[in-house]
Amino acid sequence: MREFRSEAIVLRHLDYGESDRIVTFFAPGYGRLRGFARAARKSRRRFAASLEPFASVTLYWSPGRSGGLVNLKEAELIDLRVGLRSDLPAIALAGYACELIEALFAEEEAQDQVYDLLRALLDHLSARGGTPLARLLFELRLLNLSGYIPHLLHCASCFGGLPGPNVQFAAERGGSLCPACAGGGRSVAISLLTIGSVARILRGPLTLFAEIGLSQQTLADGERLIADTLRCHLPRPLRSAAFLEQVMPFSAAGEAG
Ligand SMILES: [Zn+2]
Repeated sequence: MREFRSEAIVLRHLDYGESDRIVTFFAPGYGRLRGFARAARKSRRRFAASLEPFASVTLYWSPGRSGGLVNLKEAELIDLRVGLRSDLPAIALAGYACELIEALFAEEEAQDQVYDLLRALLDHLSARGGTPLARLLFELRLLNLSGYIPHLLHCASCFGGLPGPNVQFAAERGGSLCPACAGGGRSVAISLLTIGSVARILRGPLTLFAEIGLSQQTLADGERLIADTLRCHLPRPLRSAAFLEQVMPFSAAGEAG
């Protein structure tokens, strides 16, 4: 039987029966997969303590029968990201990030850039803790990779320019709207400066989280833009979103400046 070996990130796991574990993981070149780890909670030799959410591991697996769960054979720990585990906002944001990836990308949809982005976020959270800025950077870049990023710097309807200082934004109509096209439809007002900052972030490096500063206003505006866009593309609110709001509310944005 063919065997596979890859670096991977554990997105989540579910204990099953007496000692088994079902693990959802993301591997470059393979995308998101689910694996069955028989006796994972007993066999320290084969799995040690490596199948924890947000850990980087080397996984060995064989294909499952009829395309279902793959059979996990062994796991070697690369990085447990211990720093992340003592910071509640970091844990909440990591869980939210993993759930958002599951919501926006299908199983076995190989997306190496998504993997690079998630790894960079988790490394950042482990080193620096969770912040509203890290959340916004991750969401914007992930939406961009998923193809759901709205029109920003021109009107989504007539492709004309956008007079400032505020822009009417409606994700369900494609994004930013000029005053003539916005009409009286439902929209949120976002400052043109924020729209410019968002566009700059999307042109910047995918994996850079440190050394970026955004004003409190841009963070708040940016998050309203994201919320409107996600509402448009997700079938239901994410389970992890409420917990994240609770431990890291946007009004307490920390890294602003
Ligand atoms: Zn227009």
